[in-house]
This record gives sequence, C-alpha cells and structure tokens, in this order.
Amino acid sequence: MKTGSCVCGKVALSFDRFERPLRSCHCIQCRKQTGTYVTAGHVLDSELTLTGEEHLTWYRASNFASRGFCQHCGSLLIWKKDDSDFTSVMAGCIDGRTDAPLVAHIFVDEKGDYYELNDGVPAHSGTFGVVSD
Ligand SMILES: [Zn+2]
Repeated sequence: MKTGSCVCGKVALSFDRFERPLRSCHCIQCRKQTGTYVTAGHVLDSELTLTGEEHLTWYRASNFASRGFCQHCGSLLIWKKDDSDFTSVMAGCIDGRTDAPLVAHIFVDEKGDYYELNDGVPAHSGTFGVVSD
C-alpha cells in the first residue's frame, strides 16, 4: 500500500500501485504551480482513497483537467483529466518509495532553462495542449 500526503497532512491518499509509470511534466502550468516541474503517475480512481478531501481546492489551468492542491499548505497532490477513470498522483507526495519508474519527460519545449535533461529518459517535445499518452 502506498500512502502520501500534503505538507501539512490535512489531505492524504492511499492506493496499491501506480497503474502507469511516472512521467515528468515540464509544461508552463506545472512549472508555475510548483516552482519547477512535476512527476506523476496514473492511479485508477477505483483504487484511490482520498482523505481530507474537503481541504482540497481544485484549479482548472486548462479546459480538460483540474489540479487538486491543499488549500492550507498549497501542496499539489493530484491532477484529474475530465471524464477519466484515473487520477494522476504526484510522485513527490508519496511517503517512501514509489516503486514506479520514470519513463518520460513531456512538454519539454516549455521547460525552464535552469536545468538539463540528461538522465537518459526519453524527452518528448511539444507544448501544452498537445496531449499524448
Ligand atoms: Zn496541506
């Protein structure tokens, strides 16, 4: 069982495993919301338990998805595509090991100029709005 939470602990989540391996998103929305980029993986909604959901605030940075963050400490925890049966859970909120590999960098055309991607993980160009799986 994987567990995770925001910084202040008011919102927590748990699930068995990531359904899809991790991707790092370098789009402008993720950069601005977090101060850098995010790494997340899909968890099936049917396997995801959220506690303290009343402390979650949803923000729509695009017209097809919502970003869930703690209204108290600001931690970005989840990203939810409209009408999907999965939720993207931020790897950084997980307690301990994720046991999920990083398989891609996405939207790298929008990444910051203050770091390089040289970890050997495939980097996909493109800007936000061009969604690929
Ligand atoms: Zn919090």
